[in-house]
Amino acid sequence: MHKSYGALEVLKGVSLTARRGDVVSLIGSSGSGKSTLLRCANLLEDSQEGEILFKGEAVHWRGSGLGRRPGDAKQVLRIRTNLSMVFQQFNLWSHMTILQNVMEAPVTVLGRDRAEVEEKARGYLAKVGIGDKADAWPAQLSGGQQQRAAIARALCMEPEALLFDEPTSALDPELEQEVVKVIKDLAAEGRTMLLVTHDMRLAADVSDEVVFLHRGLIEEQGAPDALFGSPGSERLRQFLSATT
Ligand code: ADP
Ligand code: MG
Repeated sequence: MHKSYGALEVLKGVSLTARRGDVVSLIGSSGSGKSTLLRCANLLEDSQEGEILFKGEAVHWRGSGLGRRPGDAKQVLRIRTNLSMVFQQFNLWSHMTILQNVMEAPVTVLGRDRAEVEEKARGYLAKVGIGDKADAWPAQLSGGQQQRAAIARALCMEPEALLFDEPTSALDPELEQEVVKVIKDLAAEGRTMLLVTHDMRLAADVSDEVVFLHRGLIEEQGAPDALFGSPGSERLRQFLSATT
């Protein structure tokens, strides 16, 4: 994947594969391109060059170079709904209750039956430990509860994979742990996840593979024990000593 914003080349040829059931964590300094990579992966951003394969199916592009866009609206929808994103700032809809937030996309985007979706939504809220908050408004919840609601919302799409972009970065340390626990539970269930995180302990605990991005290129990747235990590159060593 190659991605530029104007003259700024953010991704300079990044290749990444996640297999079903894998947890792949992306680490790296601020500005290294982690969020851009996630946003390109679920087609929130176009790109200038490169290929995306989802379950072996190639994304259709139209145009080339700077004018290149995903070309098939149905395919974009299918891929995006199958790669549910959880954002740093939760991005709950403030004018909807927690239950409505979780139900909205399955009902309006996927056209699922409202009663069935409600039952599932309540189940996912219970799963992330906020079953009693279904009728609350987002502003009435703590940051950790809001992020768990956002995770329930992502799960209610029943996606093939979950994409997390620094899901714990906006939280106070004690609230961070309740979200970490949910992410660990999901990893233990064998869910496929791409996780951008600044939390090296979390990355070490849940990942099958850790990818260190440096200025738009993969500098190093591997199993967490090897990558954290004996980093090969000087840049990764520096990054790890600065973050821990
Ligand atoms: P990370 O998530 O690793 O901190 P990002 O992917 O958010 O990094 O950003 C990588 C680089 O791209 C940064 O220099 C950032 O300023 C730039 N960038 C990100 N989004 C945009 C945008 N929409 N327009 C212009 N530049 C952007
Ligand atoms: Mg980011």
